[in-house]
Amino acid sequence: MLKTIACGELRSNHVGKTVTLAGWVHKRRDHGGLIFIDLRDSRGLVQVVFNPERSPQAHQVAENFRSEWVVLVEGEVALRPAGTLNPHMPTGDVEVYASRAEVLNPSKTPPFDISEDGQVDELLRMQYRYLDLRTARMHDNLVLRHRVVKYIRDFLDARGFIEIETPILIKSTPEGARDYLVPSRIYPGSFYALPQSPQQLKQLLMVAGYEKYFQIARCFRDEDLRGDRQPEHTQLDLEMSFVNEEDVLGLIEELFTDIVEKVASNRKLVKPFARLRYDDVMARYGTDKPDLRFGLELADLTEVAKATESHVLRQAVDGGGIVKGFAAPGCGGYSRRQVDELTAFAQTRGARGLITISLEGEGTSLDSLGMDQVRSTLARFLTLEQVKQIAQRTKAKPGDLILIVAGPAKVANTALSQLRNEIGQRLKLTDPTQMVFAFVTDFPLFAWNEETKAWEPEHHLFTAPAEEHWPLLETDPGSMRARHYDLVCNGMELASGSIRNHNREKQERIMRFLGYTSEQIEDRFGQLLGALEYGAPPHGGIAPGIDRFLYLLSDHADSIRDVIAFPKTQNAVDPLFHTPAPVTPEHLRELHIRIEE
Ligand code: ASP
Repeated sequence: MLKTIACGELRSNHVGKTVTLAGWVHKRRDHGGLIFIDLRDSRGLVQVVFNPERSPQAHQVAENFRSEWVVLVEGEVALRPAGTLNPHMPTGDVEVYASRAEVLNPSKTPPFDISEDGQVDELLRMQYRYLDLRTARMHDNLVLRHRVVKYIRDFLDARGFIEIETPILIKSTPEGARDYLVPSRIYPGSFYALPQSPQQLKQLLMVAGYEKYFQIARCFRDEDLRGDRQPEHTQLDLEMSFVNEEDVLGLIEELFTDIVEKVASNRKLVKPFARLRYDDVMARYGTDKPDLRFGLELADLTEVAKATESHVLRQAVDGGGIVKGFAAPGCGGYSRRQVDELTAFAQTRGARGLITISLEGEGTSLDSLGMDQVRSTLARFLTLEQVKQIAQRTKAKPGDLILIVAGPAKVANTALSQLRNEIGQRLKLTDPTQMVFAFVTDFPLFAWNEETKAWEPEHHLFTAPAEEHWPLLETDPGSMRARHYDLVCNGMELASGSIRNHNREKQERIMRFLGYTSEQIEDRFGQLLGALEYGAPPHGGIAPGIDRFLYLLSDHADSIRDVIAFPKTQNAVDPLFHTPAPVTPEHLRELHIRIEE
């Protein structure tokens, strides 16, 4: 190598040694006669001193050094003079006295400062990703990613799993998103689909007798992007044969606990992970991915609402809706403007409006509450007794603000769950150093889609229902429960998985119920159904999202993009390669594709 040691590796035991270093000029300070630079390589920084008396050649070369130039320096490692030690730098006890220097490659002035952790526009960072990745924070994120993935591989290897790659050019595997398609040049009009996940492939591997499979797998989903989504993401895809739910969950709990405690060690963990039923989390948090770092649980107020004189409340209930709410502790003094802000927040999340009740008299007891301490647009329609009932159910005390949404269950739950997160953040209840995991179980097998007026799988169509629920398929499909489980953490869904249908006939029943014709079933799933007829073992699996998990683990990630080396923007664009991009007419012709405006 051009260098004898990495910059970041130098310590006091190297004092007296002559070393050759190579790296980037991180910072340069000219102190009259002496020039100091922080020299950076992938292992860290070290201070180099250029003294014209010691080496006129090195000093002269260093005079030209600018930020991000690539340079080579030879010199002697010395202890820093007393009083100049830097305890914040791993190499802070030493410095290198340069005896020779050479410029390996100069650099244009970077569009942002790599040595400072300042706020830089993300688009600019992505346009110059190769510079952004030089920053300490991005470097740390990628190193963390490497460590976590390596830990996963070693952990699973030690438990008898084997990693098997599956193809990227494949056929549609539905996970609820659109497919990315790749046209075939050889077969005009035919397309490959990029896998939304290796779901069918891992099930085929179970049929093939690989009882413990995993893969660090890339998944491609053409869907409307949200903050925590990317067109392609990485999963730990995993499948096991001869297992029940607890086998999968137990393994995942151990793995995630280990990673947080042994690899990251900057996070507090609540052990053991909670196991929560879907109905219960929906009731208490209005979402199947609750942030469990704080309480603020929702309470059902439908019964109280029915008895009030409020038109708004009664109308919602009469229309088949529900009334739910929760208390924001200490927010009873919110101004009109603050309340309006929360109302607008709820409305943009689909609620028709937000009903608020502020209870004045912080520090006093609920028993002594009088109607003169109640501020609410609904005050005229509520008796003191009803206000107290609402307060009791939401666990509100004087000094709190009760937030209530009335409407169809889905609307009320969606708005309230997001309001709950918003209040949790405002009240600083979302400690980022804490990770509170939970498994959510007993999901419904199907969800009703209002737009298409059809049932769709809540997870995916390979998920098995609870065995005793099969008879409900004809009579009451909405109440069928699935052998589906999710892992959630801090308000994010980190993994989904299930025990699968390993019997062809049962799997086909689900497909037919979902409206697939025999031809569609054969065309799309023939390969899997065929395999299920050749001794398919009972099997199940899960697929934790690596990007999301790393985002939660990292101290330096503002979004999942910060834990991915080359992510896409929220508009699914890569600003470095400028993709997606048009291709030449020849290329299209070769693929038998014509673009219609
Ligand atoms: N294939 C599923 C997904 O990508 C996970 C699983 O069921 O294992 O969400």
